[in-house]
Amino acid sequence: MPKYIFVTGGVLSSVGKGITVASIGTILKSRGVTVAVQKLDPYLNVDPGTMSPYQHGEVFVTKDGAETDLDLGNYERFIDIECTQDSNTTSGQIYSTLITRERRGDFLGGTIQIVPHLTDEIKSRFKKLAEKSGAEVILIEVGGTVGDIEGQPFLEAIRQMRNDVGKNNVLYIHVTFLPYLNSTQELKTKPTQHSVNELRRIGIQPDIIACRSDYPIAENLRDKVSLFCDVEKKAVIPLVTVKSIYEIPLVLEEYGVGQLIIDKLGITAKTTDLKHWRELVERIKTPHEPVRIALVGKYVELNDAYYSVREALYHAALFNNRSLDLFWVHSEDLDKCGDPDSLLRTAQGIIVPGGFGIRGIEGMVKAAKYARENKIPYFGLCLGLHIMVIELARQVFKSDEPNSTEFVPETKYPVIDYMLEQKKLQTKGGNMRLGNYPCHLAKGSLAYKAYKQTDILERHRHRLEFNDKYHDELQKAGMVFSGICPDNNLVEICEMKNHPWMLGCQFHPEFLSRPQRPHPLFREFIGVAKDVLREGAQPPLPLAAK
Ligand code: GLN
Repeated sequence: MPKYIFVTGGVLSSVGKGITVASIGTILKSRGVTVAVQKLDPYLNVDPGTMSPYQHGEVFVTKDGAETDLDLGNYERFIDIECTQDSNTTSGQIYSTLITRERRGDFLGGTIQIVPHLTDEIKSRFKKLAEKSGAEVILIEVGGTVGDIEGQPFLEAIRQMRNDVGKNNVLYIHVTFLPYLNSTQELKTKPTQHSVNELRRIGIQPDIIACRSDYPIAENLRDKVSLFCDVEKKAVIPLVTVKSIYEIPLVLEEYGVGQLIIDKLGITAKTTDLKHWRELVERIKTPHEPVRIALVGKYVELNDAYYSVREALYHAALFNNRSLDLFWVHSEDLDKCGDPDSLLRTAQGIIVPGGFGIRGIEGMVKAAKYARENKIPYFGLCLGLHIMVIELARQVFKSDEPNSTEFVPETKYPVIDYMLEQKKLQTKGGNMRLGNYPCHLAKGSLAYKAYKQTDILERHRHRLEFNDKYHDELQKAGMVFSGICPDNNLVEICEMKNHPWMLGCQFHPEFLSRPQRPHPLFREFIGVAKDVLREGAQPPLPLAAK
């Protein structure tokens, strides 16, 4: 019988619930306990694939091609697992499954209701993940904040689980926030008390309360939360804001959360082994010389839109004994700025990540041209590959016309075009080229040097591809097509000859990076970028690091 841990959030969104869940997974895994994770998202979209990054942040793609919440990225990075489509459940999925069944006649004669039909459907997702994964502990994060209208069916479903599988097999963790009042200079617990009251009204009594705060939490406040929320003091866990998210498993361990969970759920576990994690945090805390990278994108106002890219750069910098000095360049600003040197002068490397739609494209092309001509390391992810191809084609054909048919459908030089199967599609949801596809690497290429093997699997999310009609002309101009999908000959990786490191990939390597195991392409990109000398890029080392 698997054990279930349900994590809810109170008071505010963005208190770090996802990181807490990922960190709980880390500390359980460190005790030899197997875990599977699921995120419940209350919105009515079937998945976030059709939402703007401004609405939702990054769309995280699983190996089996599900477009999911960015929290899954943190689960994968922290616990070092690969999630599947069973790890993300949305209200949209639950309702559409139920209504399809109703139309099929599954409920003939019956009235379909939130309880029990919708809640049964939600619970079936928990049980499906438990069966398929075979994990000992199923960790479920309820998205949103307790009190949200959309979240009610999820809370009712997790309440019912206690009776379904027995109260010894279920644990409720509530993550809240303690606001700081400047005038009285104190942290307040009242919003936490109200949030727990709201949970109790539904019938859920939390077993553990994690209190996020930007200030140290005094013992008397733990006492207060313990008394008013009816949770033993050792189960009131202070989560004071730390510099790096990767410190959180150690913070939880320090307060004995691992042992608390083991005891409460009656799990047999080994003693904790967080040695590797401690080493990681030690390295993060050691001051390093910076490596300065420009991220040229169109959604830079919302850093979450590039969450995994930022993490992957961070892991790669750490591997290369550098601290990541990432600066965000809006591609529309780059388009308007005249000389790109004014915005990119200090960049030791330039990264152009994924994106959709024509806005900001010309600024990205300018960045690719700048990188190619000035021999600055360039890394293009999906759209970043398209940009690199468009830029070179414009030089080859001595024309501004080469483009992607995504942006200019009638272009004279469609160097990037819709894949054949995409041209036939009438609908939008969940039908890009998604998830894992194989790629074969050419020996002697930059890509092969990074991966040190010829056959790789990477995750995808795109509709367009390199148009092979232009293969020979671009090759003559120095482009190397170093990664090809053996299934259909689609170009997966392009590189530039006579350049220290200019590479674009059709897939999203950022999803596979781990803090202790950076992705090979990110590792190489930063490895080359770190030695590039740029004016103003390398401030003197802080004393402690010398
Ligand atoms: N818009 C491009 C496509 O659909 C690139 C997608 C991406 O960057 N993920 O192919």
